[in-house]
Amino acid sequence: MKRFSVFAIAREAMRQHSGWSRTWANPQPKKSYEVIIIGAGGHGLATAYYLGKNFGITNVAVIEKGWLGGGNTGRNTTIIRSNYLQDPSAAIYEKSRSLYENLSQELNYNVMFSPRGCMMLAQTQHEMRGYKRTAHANSLQGVKTEFIDPERIKQLCPIMNVDGPRYPVLGALWQSRAGSARHDAVAWGYARACSEMGMHILQKTEVIGVTQEAGNVTGVETSHGHIECKKLGMVVAGHASVVAEMAGFHLPIESVPLQALVSEPIKPCMDVVVMANTVHGYMSQSDKGEMVIGGGTDGYNAYTQRGSFHHLEETVRALIETFPMISRLKMLRHWGGIVDVTGDRSPILSKTPLGQTFINCGWGTGGFKAIPGSGWAFAELMAKGESPLTAEFGLDRFSAGRFVDESVAAGVAH
Ligand SMILES: Cc1cc2nc3c(=O)[nH]c(=O)nc-3n(C[C@H](O)[C@H](O)[C@H](O)COP(=O)(O)OP(=O)(O)OC[C@H]3O[C@@H](n4cnc5c(N)ncnc54)[C@H](O)[C@@H]3O)c2cc1C
Repeated sequence: MKRFSVFAIAREAMRQHSGWSRTWANPQPKKSYEVIIIGAGGHGLATAYYLGKNFGITNVAVIEKGWLGGGNTGRNTTIIRSNYLQDPSAAIYEKSRSLYENLSQELNYNVMFSPRGCMMLAQTQHEMRGYKRTAHANSLQGVKTEFIDPERIKQLCPIMNVDGPRYPVLGALWQSRAGSARHDAVAWGYARACSEMGMHILQKTEVIGVTQEAGNVTGVETSHGHIECKKLGMVVAGHASVVAEMAGFHLPIESVPLQALVSEPIKPCMDVVVMANTVHGYMSQSDKGEMVIGGGTDGYNAYTQRGSFHHLEETVRALIETFPMISRLKMLRHWGGIVDVTGDRSPILSKTPLGQTFINCGWGTGGFKAIPGSGWAFAELMAKGESPLTAEFGLDRFSAGRFVDESVAAGVAH
């Protein structure tokens, strides 16, 4: 695979870009692999990458029913932060955020990580208390965040109306090294690196069954036939319950639509990410100039990759209170994804009742930021049978009542 560098770009510019190789291979499936990962979203691809990089396991297939990165990874609003409340969450999200810092160099692929800073607005006394508590917890966890006042908020984001009519802005939880990255590029960068290690990414191949013998997984039935494996990782986000059912177990997961939209592109006007969880909306500006807007989940379970119109309308109406200037923008397009939400708003990274089968899901509305850290930890769990970063996120916590309650950091927020 040709490495990207300033010299390579200059050389290709001289010969009409005729020398670039394909970013990833399109191989025929083998009869068997050591590891199969179901789902070529960011989490599945990152898992495969760290299995190869950290544990030398490269006889891996990542099986994807559509195209790689076409699920939630390619549909999210790309907020990256690690200001969670509980210690196990702060550990895995901060690991992830720190891996994002050098991900472009590591993958030799520009993922456009932009640590522009993220603020979560406190617009009620309840939120003031919640975010101050999180700021204290973060300082104990070694996660750099601070609680800032309306004056500082206005300096950081001049287009904001801090004296809003319904909910004035009282303060904010600010993480200066939070930000965003290009979602597709994260999937593409990991896919390219996996392909370079000789792993197979099998697109347009749907897993329709899981085969087992004596309590252990033996392989998967796919739309292109049976493929054997010694270990199986299920990393399918909103379809986690469907795939778990194939292996014979149930998950405490709800699958719900979550929507986002972008405006027409405008000149740069906002260089931070703002989340307003009381009024239920959040916004950042993309490098192309579009205002990227998202809201909350729909109130019913579904597998359709779209959502209800009243949610969009409510999100935009709410954001106009805090950002009056967006009332004059035209909205360009909107879309939805299916997110997998757990009761405690924390992910599941776990062994399963089926031997040598592991599940990574439950990231809900906020798993894009977790892709590198989740891949790192889940690869360790799959390779060694345990990982310090996944220890508190097992399936057994739901029967033991050992929840990792992140309803402040992740109930609405992304
Ligand atoms: C509108 C929206 C906004 C969001 N905003 C943010 C945000 O700002 N910040 C943030 O951190 N997170 C955000 N998220 C959440 C984030 O996108 C997800 O948590 C994350 O992308 C999940 O990645 P994944 O790899 O687990 O899943 P996905 O990217 O969905 O990948 C799973 C893959 O599995 C495949 N698959 C499913 N079933 C099968 C099968 N039977 N056989 C083969 N393949 C199968 C799917 O086709 C899919 O490609 C948002 C999500 C949405 C929908």
